[in-house]
Amino acid sequence: MTEPLVIGTAQGIPGRLSYGKFEAVRLPSGGDDHFPVVIAQGREDGPTLWITANIHGNEVTGLAALHKLLDDELAARLRGALVAVPTLNPSGLVERSRSAHYLGGDDPNRLFPARVQNPETKLPSALQAAYARLFEVMKSTADYLIDLHCMGVQSIPIALRDPVYYTDKSEKGAAGRLFETVNAMQEAFGLSIINEFGGGEYLRQDLHRSVSGAMLNCAYIPAFTVELGGYPSVEPAARDAAVAGLRNVMRWAGMLDGAPEPVTGIKRIDPGYPVRRARHPNVPCGCIVHYLVEVGDRVEPGQPVAELRDIYGRPVGEGGLLRSDYDGFVVAFHRGVVYYENETVITMAVRDDGEMVLPYPA
Ligand SMILES: [Zn+2]
Repeated sequence: MTEPLVIGTAQGIPGRLSYGKFEAVRLPSGGDDHFPVVIAQGREDGPTLWITANIHGNEVTGLAALHKLLDDELAARLRGALVAVPTLNPSGLVERSRSAHYLGGDDPNRLFPARVQNPETKLPSALQAAYARLFEVMKSTADYLIDLHCMGVQSIPIALRDPVYYTDKSEKGAAGRLFETVNAMQEAFGLSIINEFGGGEYLRQDLHRSVSGAMLNCAYIPAFTVELGGYPSVEPAARDAAVAGLRNVMRWAGMLDGAPEPVTGIKRIDPGYPVRRARHPNVPCGCIVHYLVEVGDRVEPGQPVAELRDIYGRPVGEGGLLRSDYDGFVVAFHRGVVYYENETVITMAVRDDGEMVLPYPA
């Protein structure tokens, strides 16, 4: 069989879990922040699946899913290897914050390499440099990657499907096959599948530089992002659905034997046509929002989705109601009750007829 994996200081041991560190950011106060690495090395050859979590430090359900998934018994049954990184943002985790204290509020999940590099205007931050080093290791070892997140204060667990870009026409076939592999992987995973923002918004928001976006669009390795309910606490149903779904992906990839296990206890959207994420609707003025729908609900065009009130409880806006313009599904609520003018109150899933395998814009 092939040699066991070595990632940072973690050295794979066939049939067992092994632990180590990947050095990330040297701290001026002494010591360092590192990415913890767990390798579940199978006894037989097979693919290598990376599962990363918690790059947004306050999104913790993925970390909990990894703790529940990883045990020696899994490693003993495995073909190939699982590489788990419970946190890609150790600073944010202990600070309970999305960013990292050395990032000045920047989004850590937009710092991975891009397929087409724009000229850098500044030197990379310490964390960006650490991600670049890790990315090289991922690229040379991973057959698949899944990156675990959470969305909003309340949401249904979903798998996000990214567009695949090609820079040269000769790559179009490979891009299409890559997209189909991600589809099959996500079907095996078993959660609702929602396309990422369309119409150029994906690139404008630098989502191609997320962990999974970079693996997919820079390294051409099948990868996707998972949102496991709201944050900042662990949602047990989303955690357990993720554990079952991750094992199902390993079965699909030939890493585990047996039939897929049911993914239960969560709502699943499956309208029979592709849907994409859309932020809608927005409040017309600062107000208190009382939702009239629940996450996972279907809404029709014109349907009121929230009551808008002032602090005294009096209706504001058009009749005190906020309506959806679209036919779609409620995926997430962004915050609690307080919203400012033009802020979006819901992430919806709406019908998507857009192309998902695309030329990279010149
Ligand atoms: Zn996130």
